[in-house]
Amino acid sequence: MPARILDGKALAQGVTGELRERIAARIAAGRAAPGLAALLVGDDAASQVYVRNKRRTADGIGMRSLAFDLPASASESELLALIGRLNGDPSVNGILVQLPLPAQISTARVIEAIDPAKDVDGFHPYNVGRLVLRMPTLRPCTPYGCMQLLAKTGEDLAGMHAVVIGQSNIIGRPMALELLIARCTVTICHTATRDLPGLVRQADLVVAAVGRAQLVQGDWIKDGAIVIDVGINRGADGRLVGDVDFQAARERASWITPVPGGVGPMTIAMLLANTLRAAEMQDR
Ligand code: NAD
Repeated sequence: MPARILDGKALAQGVTGELRERIAARIAAGRAAPGLAALLVGDDAASQVYVRNKRRTADGIGMRSLAFDLPASASESELLALIGRLNGDPSVNGILVQLPLPAQISTARVIEAIDPAKDVDGFHPYNVGRLVLRMPTLRPCTPYGCMQLLAKTGEDLAGMHAVVIGQSNIIGRPMALELLIARCTVTICHTATRDLPGLVRQADLVVAAVGRAQLVQGDWIKDGAIVIDVGINRGADGRLVGDVDFQAARERASWITPVPGGVGPMTIAMLLANTLRAAEMQDR
């Protein structure tokens, strides 16, 4: 029987609908709408689309999105000065800096400059450290969204062998930490991994976060495994495809996320959930 589809678009609509109600109640109680500052440096086409979607979705649920678009030539000190101003502005509850940044700007320095209480992407070492220590507060959005999708399966993840492909700071590593908190046995694979197909074949749960179209073949998937495809790639015909050969993997998996319409919409939903949470924490 082909795998059941984990519909991220529908789940994200449910999450944002609930956030909209909570924001309306907050405003009715006399509090300000949560403010989300979205910073974009340069004119990378994909980044422009991502930021536009984040701003539009935030406004659509009653938040106040503030757009800061800097030229590709912007200096690191300009960006750091802007972040410093936003850190000190009480009407701004969340700050996101769209990645990647131009080469003249240090991503690490920029992320560390954001007030951890406003770090709604969950990338600051403070927030990643809290995840390491099993005290998550503002959690990295994509892995957080993947965990919501996994909860939707109704399966008990404890004891599953989870194989995460990719070890980036924003996806692979925090994903592995989330799965460890869920009591999976976790293997992290990367470019130096030997026998990737052999490891994936042992997985009860596979998370692919690489950025290589259809790297994961259908016959690598163990019968009944859960497959979460984080990758977003352009296929040869220009269409969006994930890191997994969806059609073939679907024949073996029990649950699978589509691309598009799987993890992507959940990432934005969790960003907005983090922004409301940040605003609530700053109320106190
Ligand atoms: P990245 O380039 O920073 O990391 C990719 C990782 O894959 C690296 O750790 C690398 O070691 C590993 N890798 C590369 N080739 C490999 C191979 N052949 N075998 C095993 N491991 C290999 O990328 P990222 O920022 O983590 O993003 C990964 C993918 O997720 C990209 O396609 C990106 O577009 C997508 N993405 C999706 C969302 C979403 O919301 N769905 C959000 C962000 C990124």
